Order: sequence, then C-alpha cells, then structure tokens
Amino acid sequence: MSIETILHMNTGNGESSYATNSYLQEHGIQRALHVTNEAINRMCNDLGGFPGVFKIADLGCSSGPNALLGISNIISRVHDMCNENNFEVPQFQVFLNDLIENDFSILFRSLPTFYAKLKNGEGDHCGPCFVSAVPGSFYSRLFPNKSIHLFLSSYAVHWLSQVPQGIENNKCNIYMAKTSPTNVFEAYRKQFEKDFTKCLRLRSQEIIRGGRIVFTIPGRSISDPTSEDCCIIWELLAKSLVDMVKEGRIPESDIDSFNIPYYTPYEDEVRDVIKKEGSFLIDNLYSFALDWEPYNSDNGKMDVADRPIRGKNTAKLIRAVIEPMMATHFGNSIMDMVFYKFEEHVVHHLSAREGRNFNLVISLTKH
Ligand code: SAH
Repeated sequence: MSIETILHMNTGNGESSYATNSYLQEHGIQRALHVTNEAINRMCNDLGGFPGVFKIADLGCSSGPNALLGISNIISRVHDMCNENNFEVPQFQVFLNDLIENDFSILFRSLPTFYAKLKNGEGDHCGPCFVSAVPGSFYSRLFPNKSIHLFLSSYAVHWLSQVPQGIENNKCNIYMAKTSPTNVFEAYRKQFEKDFTKCLRLRSQEIIRGGRIVFTIPGRSISDPTSEDCCIIWELLAKSLVDMVKEGRIPESDIDSFNIPYYTPYEDEVRDVIKKEGSFLIDNLYSFALDWEPYNSDNGKMDVADRPIRGKNTAKLIRAVIEPMMATHFGNSIMDMVFYKFEEHVVHHLSAREGRNFNLVISLTKH
C-alpha cells in the first residue's frame, strides 16, 4: 500500500484527533515565529516591498488549528511591515497542501472564523485573503513555475515518501533504535537525503527568485542516530507492541514488518542536502528543544504528581499522529490497548529521565 493513501493524522476534532492533540507542534510553530518574521523582512527588503498578490503555501498543513496559525502569523507580520513602511497591503493567496487522505473538510469549516479573526485583527484595510486547498504530495509538483513567494512547512517534511528499503532486519523496532543494525541507520539517512533533495528541487521550480521557505521539523541534537531526543519515544511505542507479542495478541512478525516512514535529521545532514541540491541558500538554521508537555514545563508546574497526566498527554499526542498508519498494519481492535501500554511506558520513562524532543527551523532563500 502506498504511503500516500495511509499517511494522515487522526481526523475530526474528537478526543484522539490531531486537531485536539497538536499543542506540541503549535508550541514549535510559535518558537519558530521569529525565523519566519526574519524571512519575511528579508524578502521584503530584497523585493523592495510586497507583490500585489502575495502567494503563500503551507506544505503538510494537516487538519488542526495549526494550519491557519502559521498563515495568520505571516499575514499579521506583513501587515505590520506595511504599516511601518507605508507600503500598500497586498492581497493574500493561501494554498493549504496535504495528502489526499487529510481531513480538509474540518479546515474548510474553520475558514469563516479565520476570515472573521483576520478582519477583527487587521481591520478592513487588510488585503483580502483567498484560501484554497491543494491535495497532493510535496514529493511531486504542486504549483506552476515561479508562482509562490513564501513556502511554510511545519512538522511535515520529516515524513518520508516511503519506508526505507532493506530494513527487514530491524527486529522488534519500528524506527531507528539503540538495538537497530547499522544498515537501518544508513537506509533511513539515504531515504531522507533522496526525499528532501526532491522536495527542494521541486520547490525551486515553483518559487520566485528571492522567495523564501521556512521548514520546521523534529530533528536530533547529536549525530548519533539513536539520540534519545528523537528516538526514545518510538522505542517506548515498540516496547508496547512487544508487550502485545508476549501476551499472544499479535505475532512478532507484525512488528518486524512495520517501520515508520519518518526521519529526524541532525543539523549537518540538513545542511549537506541543501548544499548538494544547490538551489537555495541557508538564511538561518535555528534549533530548540521542547518538553513533550511544553505548556506544563513553561509554567514550571512539572513535578512527580504531573507524571501520569504527562504520560496520558504524550500518548495522545503520538496516537493522533501515528494511529491511522498503525491501525492499517496491526488492526483497529488493538489500538486502545497499545496506547494504554505506551502511556505506562512513558510514565515509567519520565520517572528516571526527561522527555524532550529536538526541533530544527530552516530558513532558505531561492537564489
Ligand atoms: N503543519 C501542521 C501539521 C503537521 S502533521 C502542524 O504543524 O501542526 C504532518 C502533516 O504532513 C500530515 O497532515 C501529513 O499528512 C502531511 N504530509 C506528510 N507527508 C506529506 C507529503 N508527502 N505531501 C503532503 N503532505 C504530507
């Protein structure tokens, strides 16, 4: 089965949905905001203002509030700059891209509120904004030549176009792990290199000269591919599946044949791909760590008593992202039990260690 038909986040806005459980990503988008603002400033300087119709595309927008959050931030920044510099405010054309199985209808339903907020926030003199959806893979062409000014993509391009080939020996793991054989790391790295190169090559045809791309993705803080900040979460999920094998609920071969099409690169790997591909210059590469429960840690509320709730929330966060793909492979009926076990493993992990993930924000100019 092709990834494009099974990869999507949990739909709707119920308890397990991505819309309800994407606060970690929301937090990451806010942390990346200054990089996006800087990209807009530089583009405005290079182009001597904004074009009459400012075209923005969000790659991998998904179905939660985050899709329109990034776009609102951009419109607000452009608006402020126009006020500060006495520029005419452009019209905005916004393209929300995701794979065909994405829950676009929930996004469409949120548009009236988005338009109303825009009007309230920026006033009547805010240029009109026209939002449309572009279903398809960012590993294929999505837009005409030289038509987009700014690409934004949060927590999406770390999803690979396919599971790396030749990793059937990644026994009892579902991603790169401490016990993975070395060929697994190499296969994942190569697939990322191939996919990210393709994504850049395609965007280089669609973006105007001087246009910008801002990617935010989960990555890892050290070159070791089993770095805890990127892999431990999947090791804990794999442990939960192994528990299910021990209880005779699934065969071990089901775990061996499941690997996540996802890669958390080290900063230098990202730089290498961009340099080798050659269409873009790096304006900024910024990194930051986030607690699995970012609001909790920001408020300084985290203590032992919070562990069960942190375990529950982290399990919901991961479930919203990976359940559709896991349910296709392992069956729907075991999902509640797997994620219950996962929650327990997360709580246990937090009793001895931190739960953090690492993020990279990459701002590029088309030269
Ligand atoms: N940008 C949102 C959503 C991130 S979830 C946020 O920051 O919260 C990742 C999204 O990327 C998912 O909706 C998934 O379907 C999408 N995605 C993954 N691979 C893709 C591809 N090849 N083309 C388009 N979208 C993709």
